[in-house]
Amino acid sequence: LVEIRRVRKSFGNHQVLRDVSLAVPAGTVTVLLGPSGSGKSTLLRCVNHLETIDGGRIIVDGELIGYRQAGAKTHEMTPRQIAKQRRSIGMVFQKFNLFPHLTALENVCEAPIGVVRRSKSQARARAIELLDRVGLADFAGHYPAQLSGGQQQRVAIARALAMDPKLMLFDEPTSALDPELVGDVLDVMRELAREGMTMIVVTHEIGFARGVADQVVFMDGGVVVEAGTPEDVLGNPQRQRTRNFLESVK
Ligand code: ATP
Ligand code: MG
Repeated sequence: LVEIRRVRKSFGNHQVLRDVSLAVPAGTVTVLLGPSGSGKSTLLRCVNHLETIDGGRIIVDGELIGYRQAGAKTHEMTPRQIAKQRRSIGMVFQKFNLFPHLTALENVCEAPIGVVRRSKSQARARAIELLDRVGLADFAGHYPAQLSGGQQQRVAIARALAMDPKLMLFDEPTSALDPELVGDVLDVMRELAREGMTMIVVTHEIGFARGVADQVVFMDGGVVVEAGTPEDVLGNPQRQRTRNFLESVK
């Protein structure tokens, strides 16, 4: 479903992604690991074109992301085209970024009603279903400030799912949470994976990677150092850099 081919990205003269290639088949989960500054967030942000890229290409479900080809030339898409493309890609951040003045239900309904003009009753029914799915059926009327971090993050996941994405991107979804709240969020993600959602997850939760990932990718210094099954990359890493990193997050 996702093909990342030879992607390069610099900020000024700092090359953050150097020739990154990666494939994520439909219905599979890829976990991205790597030390701080290795380019994990930047790579995720490139996949939904929150960042432009300097070289290479990203294709999601057959569509070139962020650019269109005109003859031999490549142009960036219009903001409108980019927004349309982004709708099919859900993203969940470390900080939940919910609208504080909207209830859980309203947060989940916001994009379906505001962006794709679904009817209010239809959007609400779907939102209730999604809140139920993340274990928050009883919290629909709560404001973010009345929810725990773990509950807010689950609302954020429901909100991303409300647009029926083909792909979900998670950027350290549990690292801002108190340890006792991490499990509920991981359970929701596990369930999504089981239902066949295609996911790219940046996380340091090695247990999640081991249990859920089809593919584990270790990045360092803007390159993919090692990629493979969890058994291979976590259980029998070939590269010293991978071993050092795994040692540090144990
Ligand atoms: P972390 O584990 O800390 O989240 P990461 O692997 O997600 O790290 P990135 O956030 O992708 O790393 O950042 C990679 C490098 O790119 C860092 O050195 C960072 O300072 C730099 N960088 C990221 N975004 C920008 C930006 N908008 N402008 C300039 N430099 C940036
Ligand atoms: Mg990051």
